[in-house]
Amino acid sequence: MLSAKTKNLGIIGYPIGHTLSPIMQEAALEAAGLDYSYIALLVPPGRLVPALEGLRALYFRGWNVTIPHKSTIIQFLDAIDPDAKLIGAVNTVVNDGGAITGYNTDVIGFLMSLAAANFNLKGRRAVMLGAGGAARAVTWALCKRRAASITIGVRNPSKAMALANDFKEFASIDVYDWNSEEFKAQLGEADILINATPLGMSPKVDEMPPIELERLWEGALVYDLVYSPSKTKLLLKAEELGHPIINGEAMLAYQGAESFRLFTGVETDAQIMLNAVRQALASE
Ligand code: NAP
Repeated sequence: MLSAKTKNLGIIGYPIGHTLSPIMQEAALEAAGLDYSYIALLVPPGRLVPALEGLRALYFRGWNVTIPHKSTIIQFLDAIDPDAKLIGAVNTVVNDGGAITGYNTDVIGFLMSLAAANFNLKGRRAVMLGAGGAARAVTWALCKRRAASITIGVRNPSKAMALANDFKEFASIDVYDWNSEEFKAQLGEADILINATPLGMSPKVDEMPPIELERLWEGALVYDLVYSPSKTKLLLKAEELGHPIINGEAMLAYQGAESFRLFTGVETDAQIMLNAVRQALASE
C-alpha cells in the first residue's frame, strides 16, 4: 500500500502505453516487500529537460528510459556508466540525492539470457541483423564475452558502419547488405544468429528478415530480441529446421532485474519478472 514513506520509481518515454516495465517492476517490488511505487510517465521529445527537473524535485529514486530519450538523456546526466557511454544509450537512471547516473542494463540482460540457456559466447561466430540501439548493446555484449567474430547484416550498410567503427577495436566486425552473396556465405559460418530488428514484432507478425535460414548449420542458436509474439516467424521457421531458439522475454526480464538492483540495492529473481511479462502478454 502507498504511504508517505513510499519511494518513487518510473519509466519515461513517448509513446509509453506499450511498456511492460511497470508490471515487471511492481511484481518484483511486491515479492521483495519493498515500499516503492513504479509508474509510466509520458514524456514527449521536447519535454525531457523539465521532466528530469520534475523527477529530481519529486525525489524519484530512479527511472527507466525508453524511446525516444535513450541517447538524448546522456547530455543531462551527472555521471554515466562506462558501458552505457560506449553504447551511447541509457535505459536506467539512478538518483542519489539529486545527482543522476545513467546505466544500460540491456548488456547484462542479453548476457544473462544466454547464460540461462547455457550458451557460451567465447570464440563463437555471431551474425546479427540490424544496427540500431539494441544492436549496439548486443555488440558490446559480444565484444565483452570475446565472440570470435561479429557479422552484421542490414538493409542499409552505410548506416551500420558507424556501429562497426565504434566497436572495431574490441572485435572483428564486418557489415554487409543482408541480400548480398557475401552475407549469405557468412550465415553458413554462424554459431548464433541474432535478430535485432523489429521485423516480425506484433502486429506485423507476418514479417521476417530476408534470411535463408537453411544456410545455417543445424546447431546454430537463433535468438530474436522480439518478445511479442513469443515466437516470431523467424523463430517458428528456425524451430521447424531444428535450431535451438531464444526469444526476447528473458533479456527483457534480466535487464529489468538489473535495473531493480540498481534502484533498490536488492537482488530479485528474474523469473518473477519473466512470469509477470508472460502473464501480461498472454492477456493482451
Ligand atoms: P532501432 O534502434 O529502431 O533499430 C532497428 C534496426 O532494425 C535498425 O538497424 C533498422 O534499420 C532495422 N529495421 C527497422 N525496420 C526495418 C525494416 N522494415 N526492414 C529492415 N530493417 C529494419 O530499434 P531497437 O531499439 O534497436 O530495437 C530493435 C528490436 O529489438 C525491437 O523489436 C525491440 O522491441 C527489440 N528489443 C528487445 C529488447 C529485449 O529486452 N528483449 C531490448 C531492446 C530492444 P535502419 O537503420 O535501416 O532503419
